[in-house]
Amino acid sequence: MGAMPSSVIADLRSDTVTTPTPEMREAMARAEVGDDVYGEDPTVNELQAEVARLTGFEAGLFMPSGSMTNQVAIALHTRRGEEVICAEGSHIYEWELGMMAAFSGVVPRFVTAPLGVPDPEDVRLAVRHSVHQSPTGLISLENTHNKAGGTIIPLEVIEQIRAVADAEGLPLHLDGARVFNAAAALDVPLSEITRHFHTVSVCLSKGLGAPVGSVLVGTAGQMKQAHRYRKMLGGGMRQAGVLAAAALVALRDGPARLQADHRRARVLAEALAGAGYRVNLAAVQTNIIYVTLPDAAAHVARWAEHGVLASALGPDSVRFVLHHQVGDDALAGAMDVLLQDRAVAGALK
Ligand SMILES: *Cc1c(COP(=O)(O)O)cnc(C)c1O
Repeated sequence: MGAMPSSVIADLRSDTVTTPTPEMREAMARAEVGDDVYGEDPTVNELQAEVARLTGFEAGLFMPSGSMTNQVAIALHTRRGEEVICAEGSHIYEWELGMMAAFSGVVPRFVTAPLGVPDPEDVRLAVRHSVHQSPTGLISLENTHNKAGGTIIPLEVIEQIRAVADAEGLPLHLDGARVFNAAAALDVPLSEITRHFHTVSVCLSKGLGAPVGSVLVGTAGQMKQAHRYRKMLGGGMRQAGVLAAAALVALRDGPARLQADHRRARVLAEALAGAGYRVNLAAVQTNIIYVTLPDAAAHVARWAEHGVLASALGPDSVRFVLHHQVGDDALAGAMDVLLQDRAVAGALK
């Protein structure tokens, strides 16, 4: 990304761009801390217990990123040479830099997943136990699914895939970077989704708005081993309570704001579609919008000059992500820029 324009109307590149709220900064300043590698940071311990409670798990472990919580989970569940079954486009493979191979020695086996939702029967057929093939070590789902457009896996499908995992004797992990968005959109408690999994990773620094951090949840025994893997990856953070304090505020205030992000995403998506942009409205289920637009980077660069930031994720793909620091006024300002862009009108002809 180049230099920021002098005045940003709306930063829609990601929901990771949110900055700490005044309440978060205050909590950070007041946070009680200790050495978390020794397990002695009371604020980190409180955060871990709170995420475990909300997800219905025994224990949690705070880490600097969602990539780390996912990769530690993969290490917990698998042995070298195994396969991880996941939906095509899954973050654990697509955006985690080959780390499942580099750290755990495992490879992905993709199943097709229209709108990010794998067919449970395809998952069953992808499982391998034969002596001639890499055995399956883990099934991993992503909810909401980022690359498919922030899409939700229906609860019945999760139940059916859990039944496949049980029948095959396999663990089921959830990359729940945005599982709070899924819960908000379905209007169910978080645990209605998370209870079907053996481990879940949850990002606090996405739509919930914390500056840093993710939590992995599982059994206390798993978290003991996860602590070791986190240390191997350089993720032991010492007085991390200052970060956990902000994350606790995000957990308290964040979930209630997500439905407004989803509403604004819908408004923007429909306006873009109405103006001729190519948007799959069926995929706009939470806070993410993908637009198909040739020469994406050039358009994104031009909008940036007008104060609207988006991500070019491929030669003809643009992503907009709503978050709590883009309110109705900012959204209206962004729509003015995007809907009156004559260069886009030309490209869409
Ligand atoms: C953002 C994200 C992660 C974690 O990303 P980090 O940048 O490592 O925190 C994991 N899974 C999904 C689906 C994500 O969108």
